[in-house]
Amino acid sequence: MDTAEREHRRALAADMVDDLLEQDVVAVALTWVDHSGITRVKSVPLAGLPRAAADGVGASPVFDVFLLDDTIISGRHAGGPVGDLRLFPDLDRLTVLAAQPGWAWVPADRFDQHGVPHPQDERGLARAVADRLAVHGYEVQAGFEVEWVVGHGGTDLFRPSSTAPAYGHARQVELSDYSADLLSALAEQDVEVLQFHPEYAPGQFELSTAPEDPVHAADTSVLVRETIRAITIRHGLRSSFSPKVTVDGVGNGGHLHLSLWREGRNLFGGGESWFGLTDDADAFAAGVLRRLPALCAIGSPSVASYLRLVPQHWAGAFAAWGLENRETALRLVAGRDLEVRCYDLSANPYLVVAATMAAGLAGIVDQERLPEPVGVDPVALPEARRLPTCLEEAVAAFEADEVLTEAFGAEFAATIADVRRGEIARFADCSPEEIAALTRWRH
Ligand code: GLU
Ligand code: MG
Repeated sequence: MDTAEREHRRALAADMVDDLLEQDVVAVALTWVDHSGITRVKSVPLAGLPRAAADGVGASPVFDVFLLDDTIISGRHAGGPVGDLRLFPDLDRLTVLAAQPGWAWVPADRFDQHGVPHPQDERGLARAVADRLAVHGYEVQAGFEVEWVVGHGGTDLFRPSSTAPAYGHARQVELSDYSADLLSALAEQDVEVLQFHPEYAPGQFELSTAPEDPVHAADTSVLVRETIRAITIRHGLRSSFSPKVTVDGVGNGGHLHLSLWREGRNLFGGGESWFGLTDDADAFAAGVLRRLPALCAIGSPSVASYLRLVPQHWAGAFAAWGLENRETALRLVAGRDLEVRCYDLSANPYLVVAATMAAGLAGIVDQERLPEPVGVDPVALPEARRLPTCLEEAVAAFEADEVLTEAFGAEFAATIADVRRGEIARFADCSPEEIAALTRWRH
C-alpha cells in the first residue's frame, strides 16, 4: 500500500466522520476472524478513524496461532511474541450497529507494517481465490445460513429459552420482541434477510441472507452473528452458534450456498447436465464433492464439529450429492445454487468461501464430472462414503490435498494444520459432554 493509497483512505474516512457523529457513533470496531474461527477485535474512537484508515491499527501476528479457548500454540510458521501487523478497515463495509448504540463495525484486512498484505490474511485469501475465478471468466455468489440456539442468561449450561415445538410458531411468539428486534436491527444495517424461522432443536433459530460476492458474504456472516449476539444479550438471554450445543440432538449448521456465474448468467440452470446444470456448474460441484474430506478441515474445523457431523441429523455427513437431499453434504437446489451442508459456524467464513471456491475452480480446470446423484438417505446405501468422523482425519485430508494447500500457500496451510492439531490435543482427554461445554459459548 503506497502513500497515495493511504492518503486516499484517510480522506475517505475523514469524509465519513461527520455523518457517523450525527448517528451518535463514538467508536469503530475493526474485526477479523482468526484461524480457529473466533472473531477478534481492535477498536478506535471515531476521531481516530482517518488515522486507522491510513496507517492501520496494530495487531500481533500471534493471533494466527490462537486456539478457540485462547490457548496460544507455537506454529511452524507463525506465533511468538515478536512482530506486528496492521489492520486496515474496509470502509466500503463500515456499518453503524443498530443493536450496539455508539458503535460502528468494519471488517479489516491484515497487512504488515510496510503495507504488504499479510500472507495469512483470510479476507485476502478469499479475495485472491475470487480473483482467480474471475481470470477464468467466472464469478461466485455466496450466502451463509446462520443457525443458533437461544438460552437463558446467567449460566454456562444451556437452558433453552423456549421449549415450544420445532418450527413452531409458538417459539416465535414466545420470543416475539426478540425476533422483531433482530430483524429490524438487520434491516437497519442493510442486511437482506431471505428467511427467519425456529429450527428443530430446543430454542434454535435459523436466518439466511441474500447472495453476495464471496468476501461480502463472509463479512455478512460475521455481522449477522454479532448482531444476533448483541440483540440476545439485550434481552437477557445467551446465544450459542456452536456445532453441538448439547451432545444430544441436532446441532447448529453454517451451510454455504454457492452459485456460479458467467457473463451475467447463473450456470446452475439452463444446461444439459443433471437437473439442468451446465457443464461448468457440474464440474464446479464435482470439484467441491471430490475435496469434501479436506474441506472439512476448513468448514467443520473444530473438535465439536464431529459431534455434529453424524448421519440422520441433517448435517450432511456423507460425501455425496443429491437434488434437495438434506442428508448428503451437497444439496442441489435446481436452477439456483449448491448448498454445502457439512459446514458449521465454528469455521472462519472467509476461509470457507476461499477453500470451497478453490475446490470448485479445480473441478472446472480438470473438467471433472459429478457421479450419480443420491436420491435417498445415504445411510441406507452400503457404498455411501462418510465424511471424516474426527478432526484429525479432516486435517490429514487437507494436508494431502494439493489444490487446497496451494491455494492457501504452504505456510498458511501448515498453520491451519498446527491450529487444528492444537485443538485436537487440547480436547484429547475430554468426553463429548466436556467438548460441547468448552465449545458452547466460544464462537
Ligand atoms: N441443524 C442442521 C445442521 O446441523 C440443519 C437443519 C436444516 O437447516 O436443514 O446442519
Ligand atoms: Mg436449518
